[in-house]
Amino acid sequence: MTSHERTADGLPEDATVHPDASLPVHDLDQRLAGALERMGHVSRTMLLRQAYAEGVSPLQHQLLLRVHAMAGRARVSDLAVELDVSQATVSEALGTLRRKELVTKAPDPVDRRNTIYSVTSAGEALHTRLSSWDGPLAESLAVVGDDDKATALRVVLGLVADLHDDGVVAVARTCLTCRYFDDAGGSTPAPYRCTLLAVDFGDAQLRVDCAEHEARASAGGGA
Ligand code: SF4
Repeated sequence: MTSHERTADGLPEDATVHPDASLPVHDLDQRLAGALERMGHVSRTMLLRQAYAEGVSPLQHQLLLRVHAMAGRARVSDLAVELDVSQATVSEALGTLRRKELVTKAPDPVDRRNTIYSVTSAGEALHTRLSSWDGPLAESLAVVGDDDKATALRVVLGLVADLHDDGVVAVARTCLTCRYFDDAGGSTPAPYRCTLLAVDFGDAQLRVDCAEHEARASAGGGA
């Protein structure tokens, strides 16, 4: 042990805790925010490695995953909002994916003035390989207890919902930002209700990217 200064809890100082004690931020909040930042860095690193190993850029990687998830509903404007980049950037990256024959475009059957993108069979195969980018993280999570994971899921999705309401996160298709989510009156182990599907469920079943999601009125106006 070096001679680093100890804090009130007897442990060494934590670099994630801001030294200005006048800030109205709790130490634990700062350390948790720091841990989430580390986790975000780890996720980005894993995603980058997987993308470069498959010969696509990180943006092309994310686009392929989103075009696949949107299942024939992917428009440039929606993809730009979801990935927080300009429509020109999305169009350029989609052009590259088309030249690689990983995505294809067609007129939107709902509004033929728009164009929608879908993955090709080659894109489908690449999507399957790219989807394993979080393998190391999934392996680590496999040994964590289900109750802890369910609580972590609720807490993280709660943070995403707050940031979505504040306009920091543009798109969040989670239960906690959904107009069909009802958390009034239920009881453990299924305290929530999806009023669209008339199903009761608990923390472990909270959806992160639901195909049936519709933004609730107070959820920052995003998707
Ligand atoms: S529609 Fe999807 S996101 Fe909305 S409450 Fe139901 S399961 Fe959750």
